[in-house]
Amino acid sequence: MTKLGFMPDAQGNFGEYGGAFLPPELVDVMKNITEEYEKIKNEVDFQEELYDLYVHYVGRPSPIYYARSLTEKMGGAKIYFKREDLNHTGAHKINHCLGEVLLAKRMGKKKVIAETGAGQHGVALATAAALLDMECDIYMGEVDIVKEHPNVIRMKILGANVIPVSMGTKTLKDAVDACFMAYLEDTDSQLYCIGSVVGPHPFPSMVRDFQTVVGREAKEQFITMTGVLPDNLIACVGGGSNAIGLFTEFLKDEDINIYGVEPSGLSFKPGEHAATMTMGTPGIIHGFRCYLIQDEKGEPLPVYSVASGLDYPGVGPQHSYLKDIKRVKYVTASDKEAIDAFFELSRVEGIIPALESAHAVAYAMKLAAKLPKDQTILINLSGRGDKDIDFVAEKYGQDYGME
Ligand SMILES: *Cc1c(COP(=O)(O)O)cnc(C)c1O
Repeated sequence: MTKLGFMPDAQGNFGEYGGAFLPPELVDVMKNITEEYEKIKNEVDFQEELYDLYVHYVGRPSPIYYARSLTEKMGGAKIYFKREDLNHTGAHKINHCLGEVLLAKRMGKKKVIAETGAGQHGVALATAAALLDMECDIYMGEVDIVKEHPNVIRMKILGANVIPVSMGTKTLKDAVDACFMAYLEDTDSQLYCIGSVVGPHPFPSMVRDFQTVVGREAKEQFITMTGVLPDNLIACVGGGSNAIGLFTEFLKDEDINIYGVEPSGLSFKPGEHAATMTMGTPGIIHGFRCYLIQDEKGEPLPVYSVASGLDYPGVGPQHSYLKDIKRVKYVTASDKEAIDAFFELSRVEGIIPALESAHAVAYAMKLAAKLPKDQTILINLSGRGDKDIDFVAEKYGQDYGME
């Protein structure tokens, strides 16, 4: 086995990243979650129940689509999309939410709780909770509540409680803080369902395991379609769950170039981006070690992206490790590039992407134009843009010919 095959060790370390840095009250709680997850992970019953939901409820496998018009327009490498935007609830997050809620049920919990940024994790968790008959509390920054209004309504319709967070910058990091506090108050009847490959062990590897279905399907589908493996993979990176979901199956194929795209926002000035791996340094946030945008004291600094789901000062520990061993190249796309890509994909292919996914599309368009025509690029289109249309139309519509 290669170095990658052993990830992580029993303590949840990916090299020097990951682990579990916890208040004493949570040490045994996380250990218990790890044990329960390890138990069911290889259980045939659990895997079958989850797979059945993937097929009949989520609509998996999601297709791979060859974007002929966009490819011709860019004039270079062939562009393909793994269509996670077509999943029930409109993004990849349902893949791990169903896994987490099934685990909560097995553990005898009554309620699942979580933070949300763009609202996608909240909607996906509220959906899984409705389906599997669990109570659900979602913590969300007040800024994101305004920006992602349709998702707030969806969560409420689904029967979840949406709890506004007014601390700090009122965005994703503060919502995580609030959710941790709420979890500390009752770890018996609640399970904290973290929304990405972040947080203390076992969440980075557990959420990854639930997302690897994306890459497993993609590999088979791509070979069926083209006869060969893709030459390049691209995904946006917030915490890193959609990216690691696509990448995992291909990490050992060393000829494949893999790119994770972070948001460079308005500029690389402090507070104007969330390019964690490009601008950050190793540190600790929310119970794990990773690349982090931090001050001299190790406190996370405010970050920004037009895409709420990418707006986090840390990043998954496995991505931090993959950066150091240079298996994945972490690059950036700005707000402007993402918005351009949002309109381009909408108008050339008739696919409105999530603003998060638009960062991956933006980088892919640049890369495609530079590469020869016999090369291929497979992009994880992590979500659809329905949630973003009002915000985009109001803020950018005029610049793109909308009245
Ligand atoms: C949440 C979200 C992301 C960012 O989260 P990752 O864990 O980095 O995947 C990306 N795309 C969409 C559509 C999302 O909802």
